[in-house]
Amino acid sequence: MRAVIYHGPGQKSLDEVPDPKILEDSDVIVRIDAVTICGTDLHILKGDVPEVTPGRVLGHEAVGTVVESGIGVKSVREGDHVLISCISACGRCRYCKTGMYGQCRNGGGWIFGHLIDGVQAEYVRVPFADQSLYKIPEGLTDEQVLFLSDILPTGYEVGVLNGRVQPGDVVAVVGAGPIGLSVIQGARLYSPGAIVAVEPTEARRIWAKAFGATIAVPPEGAKAAVDELTDRLGADVAIEAVGVPATFELCADLIRPGGRVANVGVHGKPATLHLESLWIKNVTITTGLVDTFTIPTLLKAIQSGQVDPTTFATHRFPFTKAMDAYDTFSRAGETNALKVVMTPA
Ligand SMILES: [Zn+2]
Ligand SMILES: [Zn+2]
Repeated sequence: MRAVIYHGPGQKSLDEVPDPKILEDSDVIVRIDAVTICGTDLHILKGDVPEVTPGRVLGHEAVGTVVESGIGVKSVREGDHVLISCISACGRCRYCKTGMYGQCRNGGGWIFGHLIDGVQAEYVRVPFADQSLYKIPEGLTDEQVLFLSDILPTGYEVGVLNGRVQPGDVVAVVGAGPIGLSVIQGARLYSPGAIVAVEPTEARRIWAKAFGATIAVPPEGAKAAVDELTDRLGADVAIEAVGVPATFELCADLIRPGGRVANVGVHGKPATLHLESLWIKNVTITTGLVDTFTIPTLLKAIQSGQVDPTTFATHRFPFTKAMDAYDTFSRAGETNALKVVMTPA
């Protein structure tokens, strides 16, 4: 089969590699029908994720069709159309038993394109298939469900739910890349009073409005915009969706006393926690890796039309052009790409 292979920092190629095989009774083999690239794949290619070793198939966001299943698999069978969660779950450890699949202690968690071969391939081996695949209901297209693999539950769980967005809240979302836009989509389900998107690039401020932000401002205008909406009190919820020190510190600056700061971004450097001003403000700060336990909830919201993630799909490529897809996604500032979708040629 063909697959996108990591060859060390800065190096990848679409190579011919052996087809995956069932290794455990709980495995299935899925033929990939649609697959996308994540910002995390770009981090890996920069060499920021040293656990990923040369020769690894990249990717963790895809939908496909089950073509073979291990004898222990009960919940899916050959021919089933399935969403592959970016998080695998053993289903038995103390974390899996509370839905905290991202912290699985038995070989689950984020493993695709990280610790095992990923989904940017024609076929993939899916471990713990009973707990890690979701059957796609009839009538939904691949593009409607593809972003449930990662970005939609990430924005919803780590941003909206951790931030406890309530009706009427003023919600500041700092960063309007795919994750920030997922946060905006998820926050709207809770009828906030206003969503203030904070984003330096104009193209992404336009996206933020299209995804449902009330206003979209550059970082230097964030404080004034939130002050005006809250009678100078501050945001009820501030959600960090970038992963650099400045955006986290801005969230801590925008929050009202008693408010919630939810960090979603993946940080590579320390950020400053200004306890000298925060200690007296009863502020809650949350962190997290997605668990994808809300995939069934979000699937219903997509079915009912409350959430339409198809807007994320800005560019489409046949899988044979995977290198072009990477090029387009990695130059998002010029191409205005949100998510690129690859399908079999
Ligand atoms: Zn991802
Ligand atoms: Zn587990």
